Amino acid sequence: MILPGSTIGILGGGQLGRMTAMAAATLGYRIHIYSPDADDPAKQVSAYSTTAAYDDEAALARFAATVDVITFEFENVPAETAEFLARLRPLRPDPAVLRITQDRLREKDFLRSIEVATTSYREVGDPAALARALRDLGVPAVLKSVRLGYDGKGQVKITSDAAVETLWAEMGGPVGILERFVDFACEISVIVARSASGGWATYVPVENQHAHHILDTTIAPARINPEVAMRAEAIARHIAEKLDLIGVLAAEMFVTPDDQLLVNELAPRPHNSGHWTIDACCTSQFEQLVRAICGLPLGSTEQHSDAVMKNLIGDDVEKWREAINEPLAKVHLYGKKEARPGRKMGHVTRLSPRR
Ligand code: AMP
Repeated sequence: MILPGSTIGILGGGQLGRMTAMAAATLGYRIHIYSPDADDPAKQVSAYSTTAAYDDEAALARFAATVDVITFEFENVPAETAEFLARLRPLRPDPAVLRITQDRLREKDFLRSIEVATTSYREVGDPAALARALRDLGVPAVLKSVRLGYDGKGQVKITSDAAVETLWAEMGGPVGILERFVDFACEISVIVARSASGGWATYVPVENQHAHHILDTTIAPARINPEVAMRAEAIARHIAEKLDLIGVLAAEMFVTPDDQLLVNELAPRPHNSGHWTIDACCTSQFEQLVRAICGLPLGSTEQHSDAVMKNLIGDDVEKWREAINEPLAKVHLYGKKEARPGRKMGHVTRLSPRR
C-alpha cells in the first residue's frame, strides 16, 4: 500500500491531471506533474512539477526518483516513456494497457480477441486498401487514423463514393481503420476501477451526447433499460479484467436500436464522461484512481444525485457567469488562459438530489 503522505507522479498536465491532483490532496498525497508545458492546468494545483519532453530520459529518471507511484492522465504519452519509467517505479495502469489503447486497431483486435462486440472494421494501409475495405463494408463508414486521434481529429465520415485519395489525405495518418457507421440509438460509457489491493467498482452507465465530435453533455444515469445497463457494466468489467487493469478505465459504447452494445473506444484513465462523479457520487473517478493505484480500498460509487454534466468548450466558458448563480450547479474551470475553439475550458454539473 502506498500511504497518504507519499508522492504520486502523473504524466500529462491537463484537466484530468488537475482533478486527480485535487482528489489526491484530499487524501493527503502530494503530486508531481510531468509534462512539456509549464503553465498546464495540473501544475497550477500540484506541489511539484517537471517541464520536459517525454523522451528526455534524464528528466524522466529525476522525476521517478521523487515519486512513489506513477500514472498517466492521457493515453498519448509515448509507450516508450511509460516503459522506461515502469523499470524505475510502479506505473499503473501497466504500459501494456497503454500500448493497446493508444492504437485504435490494436484496441479493436483486442476487444475481438476477448469476444467483446464492436462495429465491423478493416485495417487500411493505403488508398487502394481503403477502396477494397469500402467495397467490403459499404457506406456510410468512418475512416479514422489509428494513432493520435481524439475528439474527432483524424476522422472522416464517408457517405458516398468520394475519391479514396482525397479521403486518405483528409484522414492524415500513415495507417487507418475503416469502421462501419453505427446508426446508434444512443452512446453510453461505463467507468470501472480496480485497485492494486484487488477490489472492483463500476459507476452506472451514463449517456453521452457529442457536438462536432467532442463530448458536449453527459446524463447520469443513462436513459436505457436496466438490463442493458447491467450488460454494459459487465462488459466494462470483463475488459478491465482481461487488461489486468490497476487504475480507472472508461469504455465507450454504442447502443443500437435493438439494444445491442458495441464498444467504440477505451480510455485507461479518468474520462470526461465521469466528471459528474465529483459532485454526484460518494467517491469521484479521480479519488478512485488515487485509491486504485495506491492499493487503498475503493470507495463507494453510489450516486446521491441525478446529474447532467455540460462541457464549457471554447468561448462557452463565459457561461460560468450564469451557472455560478444556479443553486444546484457546480462550476469547474480548468485555469486555461486562452479559450481556443474546441478547447475544453471547464464544465458545469447540474444536480437533482435524490430523496
Ligand atoms: P471516437 O474518436 O472513436 O470516440 O469518435 C468520436 C465520436 O464520433 C463518437 O463518440 C461517435 O459519436 C462518432 N463515431 C465514431 N465512430 C463511429 C462509428 N463507427 N459509427 C457511428 N459514429 C461514430
